[in-house]
Amino acid sequence: MLKKNNISKIEKELKKGVKMVAMVAPSFVAEFEYPSMIHQLKDLGFDKVVELTFGAKMINREYHKILKNSKGLIISSACAGVVETIKNKYPQYKKNLVKVDSPMTATGKICKKLWPKHKTVFISPCEFKKIEAGKSKHVDYVIDYEQLRELFKKNKIKKKRGKVLFDKFYNDYTKIYPLSGGLGKTAQIRKILKKDEILTIEGIKEIMKFLDKPDPKIRFLDILFCVGGCIGGPHTSKKLTIPQKRKKVLNYLELAKTEDIPKTRKGVIENAKGIKFTRTL
Ligand code: SF4
Repeated sequence: MLKKNNISKIEKELKKGVKMVAMVAPSFVAEFEYPSMIHQLKDLGFDKVVELTFGAKMINREYHKILKNSKGLIISSACAGVVETIKNKYPQYKKNLVKVDSPMTATGKICKKLWPKHKTVFISPCEFKKIEAGKSKHVDYVIDYEQLRELFKKNKIKKKRGKVLFDKFYNDYTKIYPLSGGLGKTAQIRKILKKDEILTIEGIKEIMKFLDKPDPKIRFLDILFCVGGCIGGPHTSKKLTIPQKRKKVLNYLELAKTEDIPKTRKGVIENAKGIKFTRTL
């Protein structure tokens, strides 16, 4: 078992009242109900529940700056599966990976700045994120979606109605981040590069095909390891198809445009002031 994925330890700490913040991956909405998921995490013992979307917004700003000043091929590094594959199977491309945090680590940094005594727990669709968290001092634990369902079941935590909000970091447009192409679209890469210089690929087989035979025209590779993106992650439910899950994410984006969210709950640049979102790979 990976050290930061020790569920019984996390459960024990939650029961003991250790202050923890749940950082929810934006693909959650294809798996759980919003806003019931927030009630359920609080009932499980989390002191704070936040969305990862603001972390995504912050790294988008870094991508924009890097692409504006770059030459040659740039490969997105938000997906832990892509990073691990390149490091292990295609080390010649390691230099092309963007040296910017993933939304998980970026959000971990912001949470540690706001609540330095809280432990950060990433709620994840992904197995690779457990490896990334293992190397990050900003993410203390990871619980995957299947493990979270089990925890809700074991602790008899039921879905709840009634208004409840994320404690922080509402950001509407980055809600599409877990979808294939979400990064490129929300970071407005099309304002910097031409259409035929950008390639979006989902699924590791197709990614490997490109890496084995790269197209020299491509300047930005926006790629996600799983077919469909994070909504097709290894710990997601298979009850819904990828198009059905995609629709749920898009509906959530539409809902966000109509929600009345107080300013104090939104992700604002001030929250991230002084934080560097660069990383070594
Ligand atoms: S695309 Fe798959 S491997 Fe990559 S971060 Fe999302 S769930 Fe993990």
